[in-house]
Amino acid sequence: SEPLLQVENLKKYYPINGGKFGSVSETVRAVDGVSFTVNEGETLGIVGESGCGKSTTGRMIMRLIEPTEGKIIFQNRNIMELTKREMRKARKDIQMIFQDPFASLNPRHTVGHIIEEPMIVHHMGDKRQRQKRVEELLELVGLSSYHAKRYPHQFSGGQRQRIGIARALAVRPKVIIADEPVSALDVSVQSQVLNLLKDLQKKFNLTFIFIAHDLSVVRHISDRVGVMYLGKVVELSESENLYNDPKHPYTKALLSAVPIPDPDIKTERIILEGDVPSPAHPPAGCAFHDRCPVAMDICSIEQPHLKTLDDGRLVSCHLYN
Ligand code: SF4
Ligand code: MG
Repeated sequence: SEPLLQVENLKKYYPINGGKFGSVSETVRAVDGVSFTVNEGETLGIVGESGCGKSTTGRMIMRLIEPTEGKIIFQNRNIMELTKREMRKARKDIQMIFQDPFASLNPRHTVGHIIEEPMIVHHMGDKRQRQKRVEELLELVGLSSYHAKRYPHQFSGGQRQRIGIARALAVRPKVIIADEPVSALDVSVQSQVLNLLKDLQKKFNLTFIFIAHDLSVVRHISDRVGVMYLGKVVELSESENLYNDPKHPYTKALLSAVPIPDPDIKTERIILEGDVPSPAHPPAGCAFHDRCPVAMDICSIEQPHLKTLDDGRLVSCHLYN
């Protein structure tokens, strides 16, 4: 089947003034040539430490951030080339859920107004129809219609995330980009919200791009997972293959950081030393080489490129040449 959304060689470079006197001009390569496809009704997880370009990638698809280069093809059209009117339609079809629902909900507005607002923006229905839809949406996300009259601060973190989800669903989108939607929530609440998202996906055939810094969060929701490091995708695979048999040393390290519920299972634990290097000064060769436990001589010299392995996964690492 045709992919619903296709990202091709997406880049975001920021110029910064570096050096002691601000005279040396440098470039931060926040996203550096990312490509992937998302099929209708599937969930693509995007995982990596903070500063790897995951959020920037999500925001570029929404065109909240303008890409430096690349194509974003939605329903066979490059959204970079859409007219203003067409872009408004595309914005309705692609909605976003954010990490901190409190920050993205206006505290002075009632929950009803918050959920209604995107419908007003997109001229959907009259006041009475919209209010009816607000009530339906509240129930759909596990809240009650009388909550429409309350304010965001009267809700718990998990409930606020449900309000954020209701708001995103209000305009009947096809794609939802969820940027760390459960990272700020308690573990028990996390799974409730994840289950809600899964149910809604089934009900409305939604397509998700689910961004997280932790592989365990996206495990049960993702059909495929892309792992990003320093602005690049380093491994992209069917979830099952990725979790059972990670190939890239960075994916292995991320996975070994995930606590395993069964204490009898001993996994090789890889501790990631140091932080993600600055995207203004990416190391030569493989950007992961100074943290990689199995780096070879070639790794600091030559940059590996994405290769397709036999099981269809993509991996960029000299181990698989
Ligand atoms: Fe490690 Fe080399 Fe592979 Fe990079 S290319 S992940 S440094 S083995
Ligand atoms: Mg982020």
